[in-house]
Amino acid sequence: MSAEHEKEYALFNHIFSLPSEKLNAIRGKPELVLSAIDDYQKNTETHYMDIGQAKGQIIVDKIREKKPKIMVELGGYLGYSAILFGKELLQDSTAHYYSLEANPTFAEMATKLIDLAGISEKVTILVGPATTSLVSLQKELQKQDSGVRTFDFVFIDHWKDLYVPDLRVMESLNLIAPGTVLVADNIYHPGAPEYVKYIQGTADSKREHNASIPNANGHSFVGRWDIVYDSKTIPVELENRRDAIELTYCTGYAEK
Ligand code: SAM
Repeated sequence: MSAEHEKEYALFNHIFSLPSEKLNAIRGKPELVLSAIDDYQKNTETHYMDIGQAKGQIIVDKIREKKPKIMVELGGYLGYSAILFGKELLQDSTAHYYSLEANPTFAEMATKLIDLAGISEKVTILVGPATTSLVSLQKELQKQDSGVRTFDFVFIDHWKDLYVPDLRVMESLNLIAPGTVLVADNIYHPGAPEYVKYIQGTADSKREHNASIPNANGHSFVGRWDIVYDSKTIPVELENRRDAIELTYCTGYAEK
């Protein structure tokens, strides 16, 4: 076991070492699997970097409004958000949740927790840097005959310095289109000011940004200055800190 993942293994082992009666009681029940994860964090006073219930519920409400066919998250970690949001797609047999996670150890744990929650068929984990997975996911969607080529809902929750670069990747691949809803986490804590500046910026400021700053995740992914976003920061009071999510609607394209 790698020492750097000790904390994650501790949670994972706790869940899968629950008495068989308790484990069977939560099997196939996403809410109860999430509660078991929440309870462990509370009882051990350990913070895990998942979305949690307070911020998560705001996003769940937006998913219920939007009813996405294709929902994608950047940064899956141990599967908490994939379970919380993926369960919202269960009613629609044509809807699917893609969780993009760079760390194979986390992806493996998430796979098992998602399976425990009983929603494996609804959630696909793509292992590797989000940039690479976005390119392969686009190819995969193009092969499917569902006709869906763009993302309906995107949850951005990986490393903060990658928010803008990977948004530019999605823009360049035309995965974002009018109607796409985006939510980004950790806007105040640890903070993603560059992302807020970009997504709330004017067409001119995006054009300037994309022309002057090469995309760290691939120079060919310049981004699209002409995508129009309606975006606002929503502060959320948590038990021990104040954070915010950025809620964004892609509303159209700017005139050339
Ligand atoms: N969304 C998760 C949840 O609420 O349960 C929490 C995600 S955690 C804040 C961030 C995750 O992003 C980590 O698991 C990390 O390994 C992953 N990550 C970091 N860089 C990434 C990248 N380039 N592509 C995909 N995942 C990445």
